[in-house]
Amino acid sequence: MRTVTKCVTMVSILTIAAVVYAGDGFSMKCKSKSCGYESEVRFGGGMAFGQLTGYCVKCKKFVYLHWTLEGSPALDPKAKKVPQPKSLGTVWDSQNGQSLAIYACPHCAGPFAEIKSKADLKNCPSCNKPEFAVDETKPLMAID
Ligand SMILES: [Zn+2]
Ligand SMILES: [Zn+2]
Repeated sequence: MRTVTKCVTMVSILTIAAVVYAGDGFSMKCKSKSCGYESEVRFGGGMAFGQLTGYCVKCKKFVYLHWTLEGSPALDPKAKKVPQPKSLGTVWDSQNGQSLAIYACPHCAGPFAEIKSKADLKNCPSCNKPEFAVDETKPLMAID
């Protein structure tokens, strides 16, 4: 009977996650043996929510901004609408010629740069080595 209870709990967690967070979640891990930093990282929005991802160096964690996708049929009409966040500005990275949009961290209000996709996340936020990758031993999470 214990297994059944566990399953029910898992399902309700997933349902709550689907409402609060949208997009694809990845278990990512630093392959450097001296580091081993790991974190779940989510990218992309869902049916009713837009989401952007970044890493806050002050909070030392991945952070997310969510907003309501206006006019989405999946939107609960009673839900509070969250406007799309405005960037604090854009900085140009001279090393690779890319422009990075900067947003305010939802926890500490410090600046963080948007990470557009997991392809743009190569370096480990903890040790800075280019060894940060999806942990293939863990299941992918498709949340929508
Ligand atoms: Zn922060
Ligand atoms: Zn690392």
